[in-house]
Amino acid sequence: MRPRISDELARRQLLQCQLCEHRCLANRSAGERGPCQALTEARVFRQRVEWGEESELIPSHLFYLSGCDLRCAFCIAEANAFDPLRGTVLTADFLRQAIPKGRAQGAKNIQWVGGEPTIHIPAILSAMAGIDDLPPVVWKSDFYGTPEAFELLDGVVSVFVPDFKFGNDECAQRIAGVPRYFGVVTRNLRLAAKQADVIVRHLLLPEHWDCCFVPICEWLLREMPTVKLSLRDGYLPMWQARQHADLSQLLKPGIGDRAREWATRLGLNVIR
Ligand code: SF4
Repeated sequence: MRPRISDELARRQLLQCQLCEHRCLANRSAGERGPCQALTEARVFRQRVEWGEESELIPSHLFYLSGCDLRCAFCIAEANAFDPLRGTVLTADFLRQAIPKGRAQGAKNIQWVGGEPTIHIPAILSAMAGIDDLPPVVWKSDFYGTPEAFELLDGVVSVFVPDFKFGNDECAQRIAGVPRYFGVVTRNLRLAAKQADVIVRHLLLPEHWDCCFVPICEWLLREMPTVKLSLRDGYLPMWQARQHADLSQLLKPGIGDRAREWATRLGLNVIR
């Protein structure tokens, strides 16, 4: 079934943008740029079918969009994530040509990733509105969007994959440069769970067991005890990670399995 796609409503956001919790009110249609640096176009810097996602999502056709509202010091996409002018402009024609190729490789969904797709909701909705046989839509996000942004995605997204990165505001401010992180992300998790299936992802960070991993698990156990939790242990000290003593290390061997066992014993629904 073709989803409800309110691309016109979304475009109005670009006059006074409040798509993410920076709420900078940039008039992106007039060339103003907020912290994310994005204008009105979204650009795809990579697209391919991948098998490295959670087992229930693969094979998945991922579309990587440049531009992001966070500045995580350990970002593996680095310049591609932070420069929204990188890549090919996303249009309905671009999607119309790409989707069949993904299908031919077995992709069972399309997945919007970044950078951060939320800052590009108007362009994504506009492109998808031109596709008749749209596959199920997966939305992998930092979840720093606003309720207004999530409203635009209601009825459009089949599976949300929030990257729940930090278990407290101090780590988020120091490492990703954003305030009020924990309250924003947990509010959005509740919103997303009312709209679609949710798979919470957490990338384990070196030295962040007590301050991030444990509080995230405890919050999930309290508020969303049956939600699927995917714990990732592929951390690499990329971009500016070496400016932080904690982030300049690799994870200790076996920490991924230890985390999965710990979260499972706690009672969480840990998936692979
Ligand atoms: S998405 Fe970009 S322009 Fe919009 S509020 Fe966030 S930082 Fe500002």
